[in-house]
Amino acid sequence: MTEHTIRENVEDIRRRIAAAAARAGRRDADVRLMAVTKTVDDQRILAAIAAGVDIVGENYVQEAKRKIELMGRPREWHLIGHLQTNKAKYAVKLFDMIHSVDRMDVALELNRRAAKEDRLIKILIEVNISGEATKRGSDATEMPGLVKEVSRLEHLSVQGLMTMAPWFDDPEEARPCFAALRSLRDRIAEAGIPGVTMRELSMGMSGDFEIAVEEGATIVRIGRSLFGERPVKEEIPP
Ligand SMILES: *Cc1c(COP(=O)(O)O)cnc(C)c1O
Repeated sequence: MTEHTIRENVEDIRRRIAAAAARAGRRDADVRLMAVTKTVDDQRILAAIAAGVDIVGENYVQEAKRKIELMGRPREWHLIGHLQTNKAKYAVKLFDMIHSVDRMDVALELNRRAAKEDRLIKILIEVNISGEATKRGSDATEMPGLVKEVSRLEHLSVQGLMTMAPWFDDPEEARPCFAALRSLRDRIAEAGIPGVTMRELSMGMSGDFEIAVEEGATIVRIGRSLFGERPVKEEIPP
């Protein structure tokens, strides 16, 4: 895929975000576009950065380290992949935001490592909104308790929620998941937990981002619509 095509894809996705935002009476400036780069080569990532995506989203800490050293920080880098506690040390140095916090042990380790770096790390709590066994994320009923516990950690700043909807042929079927994440977000925001802002809703991927924007997404995470299909064997990250 050429640089030109990637630029066109960014423009097309921006138009679709704007139209979806307009349908919901929202400002498109309130929705940030993340380029999801798993399996994408460096040249194409640089093209997406040049085309003006807001955020680069990484699934793997180790890969992100190499890429950030190479590409610098013209954009924010966010971690969206599963985080193992033994990678927390690098994660707090590399990322502007971590979307995939779903357990207290990960939060504790991030907090400990962030304290050493003297940084305040922005995080989102990943929620398994559909309850599917194959999906990561904290259980929707346990999540508010997790947010409360995490809010006491001095070096982490909870900024919102993240989810992955199940895959549907018809993206309309994902709408209840996105609406549910938004209402959870609103409930937690109303609870007014000190240090918790609940500004962000990270939801929506290539197949369903317009529905997610209609339901309040502030970050959409786009891979295939931007870069083309991924090689099949690497479709699902470990
Ligand atoms: C791969 C991935 C995406 C992007 O999915 P596409 O269907 O390629 O847009 C978004 N979020 C997460 C967590 C991912 O792993």
